[in-house]
Amino acid sequence: MTPEEFRRAGHELIDWIADYRTRVEGGATPVLSSARPGELRAALPDAAPQDPEPFAAILRDLDALILPACTHWQSPNFFGYFPSNSALAAVLGDVASTGLAQLGLNWQASPALTELEEVTTDWLRQLLDLPATFRGVIQGTASEATLVALICARERATGYAAAHGGLQSVPRPLVVYASAHSHSSVAKAAQLAGFGHEQLHLVPTDETYAMRPEALASAIGQDLARGAVPCAIVATTGTTGTTAIDPLEPVGALAARHGIWLHVDSAMGGSAMILPECRGLWAGIERADSIVVNPHKWLGASFDCSVYYLRDVQHLVRVMSTNPSYLQTAADEVTTSYRDWGIPLGRRMRALKLWFLMRAEGVGRLQARLRRDLTHARWLAAKIDAAADDGWRRLAPVPLQTLCVRHEPPGVAGEALDAHTLAWVGRVNDSGRACLTPSQLDGRWMVRVSLGVESTERPHVEALWRLMQGAVRGATR
Ligand SMILES: *Cc1c(COP(=O)(O)O)cnc(C)c1O
Repeated sequence: MTPEEFRRAGHELIDWIADYRTRVEGGATPVLSSARPGELRAALPDAAPQDPEPFAAILRDLDALILPACTHWQSPNFFGYFPSNSALAAVLGDVASTGLAQLGLNWQASPALTELEEVTTDWLRQLLDLPATFRGVIQGTASEATLVALICARERATGYAAAHGGLQSVPRPLVVYASAHSHSSVAKAAQLAGFGHEQLHLVPTDETYAMRPEALASAIGQDLARGAVPCAIVATTGTTGTTAIDPLEPVGALAARHGIWLHVDSAMGGSAMILPECRGLWAGIERADSIVVNPHKWLGASFDCSVYYLRDVQHLVRVMSTNPSYLQTAADEVTTSYRDWGIPLGRRMRALKLWFLMRAEGVGRLQARLRRDLTHARWLAAKIDAAADDGWRRLAPVPLQTLCVRHEPPGVAGEALDAHTLAWVGRVNDSGRACLTPSQLDGRWMVRVSLGVESTERPHVEALWRLMQGAVRGATR
């Protein structure tokens, strides 16, 4: 494709995206794809074409084949999983990034990539009101950031064992602590970083599903008594199931007392910290060694854009650096080499989408949108609480934008209640008019309502509530 062909096709594609967004954000499109497993695969050729195909044919198949197999995360009626907002300004930033096709191997390979990432992660740091001692790096996902955090913790606890005998030379087991409601990526990171599943200590939670600091203290005490080494604590502000908030003040105090690495997983909840009124939720954050915040969730920076903040950059670089001669340059002393701040060598210019987003929206609009979503969540929580006599029950506090609900008809319990829950949420999802995620809490099915899609306004939340009330009666209207 020549630049002139690209110009024509590119305009067409941008128009196509704008039309798609207009349609989906208008709310008329069924939210969940009705594709059956294997259906798209069967509709596509077994092998790539030998000869060039016209762009129009590709665009036609995008419409006819790909689109029906898409679930519409940007629909105002999407209340599933968590918001994965992709503000159109960020989409353009991503287009610019791919168009520029920069590859950050070191500063020299793309000075702009490096310095824009330094600037945008620092802008975001200020918005989150994190101390200036924290520095940021953009990673693909929170899963990667948490893996990097646990590797940093491991190397600090072992005096850089990886450069010598590795974990195989460490005489005493190293322990990682996280709440029983922490994200599955924490268990995965603990396994991949070599701790072993048995050395992940899941700490019991309280009635708000937050980590109990006394339980953490006693777990640490028991591990010390058996000769193990408490190595890392992963606290979550905004758990995936219920957006529970682990108390960072007491957890951070324990980490400090025992010299344990404190990593804070704020993948989802972190975006809320651009609001001063929410920052009390992570009071004590300045004690963290590392933090992960996903601007690609609620904030709108388009997947993938996960920011890893940490205090001791020298430590991180010592752990991650390999520094082969062909990557060394004269500028190394005075510039940042982000390849030494994480796992991959090659890096895309992801800072562009964060930069486009923050500039095109401005802080004020980003804050107003998140406040709107918090208000929607409180509105729906009040409706559910007021419908207690009809069997509606809210199962957890609502510190952010996620509600955990169940409809409990009189006399229905246990497996029959599970069947009722899965039936009504199934009716909601099959209706195409909304998408909700069923999930288990305390061994029973419940339904998560996750608000915060950019296009979701109050009427959509009101319509959802009507749909839920109908669905428990067997209707979908
Ligand atoms: C979404 C989420 C993750 C995982 O995020 P990825 O970026 O997809 O790896 C981890 N922890 C929490 C609390 C999350 O909300």
